[in-house]
Amino acid sequence: MTKIDVDVDVVVIGGGISGLAVAERLLATNHTVQLFEARSRLGGRIQSLPIAGGVAEMGATWFWDNEPRVRSLVDSFGIAVHDQWETGDAVVQTHARVARYGRPWSTNSRRFTNGASQLIDGLANRLPDGTVHLDNPVLGVKPVDGHIEIQLEQRLITARHVVVALPPSLAIANNLIDSADLEPKLFDAASNVAVWMGSIVKAVAIYDEPFWRADGLSGAASSQVGPTHEIHDISGPRPGPGVLFGFGQTTPDKPDLDPQSFINQLIALFGGRAENPTDIIIRDWRQQPWTTPDNWPLSERYDLFGAPILQQPAWDGKLFWCSTETASVAPGHIEGALFAAERAAKAIAEQTM
Ligand SMILES: Cc1cc2nc3c(=O)[nH]c(=O)nc-3n(C[C@H](O)[C@H](O)[C@H](O)COP(=O)(O)OP(=O)(O)OC[C@H]3O[C@@H](n4cnc5c(N)ncnc54)[C@H](O)[C@@H]3O)c2cc1C
Repeated sequence: MTKIDVDVDVVVIGGGISGLAVAERLLATNHTVQLFEARSRLGGRIQSLPIAGGVAEMGATWFWDNEPRVRSLVDSFGIAVHDQWETGDAVVQTHARVARYGRPWSTNSRRFTNGASQLIDGLANRLPDGTVHLDNPVLGVKPVDGHIEIQLEQRLITARHVVVALPPSLAIANNLIDSADLEPKLFDAASNVAVWMGSIVKAVAIYDEPFWRADGLSGAASSQVGPTHEIHDISGPRPGPGVLFGFGQTTPDKPDLDPQSFINQLIALFGGRAENPTDIIIRDWRQQPWTTPDNWPLSERYDLFGAPILQQPAWDGKLFWCSTETASVAPGHIEGALFAAERAAKAIAEQTM
């Protein structure tokens, strides 16, 4: 086989957890790797914001005991974890009334005490200087004469392989890949697979203390009324501020989540002390252009998660998908993103060894 002179063995597009994990594995098997990230930060759908006395997760919050890849990173980076707070009654809100559920609402999940972003920091620290390029959106990828051309804002680079470590439907919506370059079945799956949490708004309210616990409430609630439909206590494990978050969903009719309507909902659920949070943070993932395609309605094709055609390489083994949506194990979760990264790195290594 003629050896093609390219700039790098593998270009990874996206610096979320799947992109960082695939880069780490490929570097460990002696591939040259360049990772391009559109945002000015790493982590994608993982972002922990510092707040007084702790962190507030804008994206991923929990992991579970049946997720060995997450656990392995937690152990290897020495990340402190604690159990999700579930002592006290959950609350149920219907249009007719607000009622105590009479028992906790168990998610049986663990939390990253100082933020899920520690996973991102840990992986990024393992990559040699010069591997990661922030503020570098990839504009296009194309198979050309047995290699791949990657178009950046200021330059074109060439690679033997490309790993698309972002939701496939975002890649298609942003014209990263020309439909003419994908076989119709693959184009169909890639353009239609849902973006996990792509239409979710996370509303976070911070209080001086978790006052609801003194009333025997766990801080968890389920609501038919809104504006959020599922609420949990994400205060830290030590005495300090009390933090509640709610999941809401934007729609064409209701494209924004009003902070005051969230406070009003918390007052209805947990009483008058909810009236004065020290801070409110609203993160609408629907409005994050590097996460969610800019179109209504958003796809709800969750049945395409881990579709076999998204697990296989395209372009004669040169293009690999690797976001969490392409995982056949725990798709949507951090664990799924790590699983997909493992799969892509293994397949590339098998070709090149
Ligand atoms: C609100 C919310 C709550 C969640 N809760 C949990 C939870 O509790 N537990 C759990 O396990 N999972 C949870 N998840 C899911 C979890 O965050 C994801 O599964 C995981 O972070 C996905 O990682 P990824 O690398 O596949 O994709 P992403 O994190 O989306 O990474 C893709 C990266 O590609 C970049 N990018 C996009 N386009 C381009 C381009 N053209 N050029 C260069 N870079 C580009 C993006 O900026 C991004 O950094 C949650 C997600 C959200 C949003």
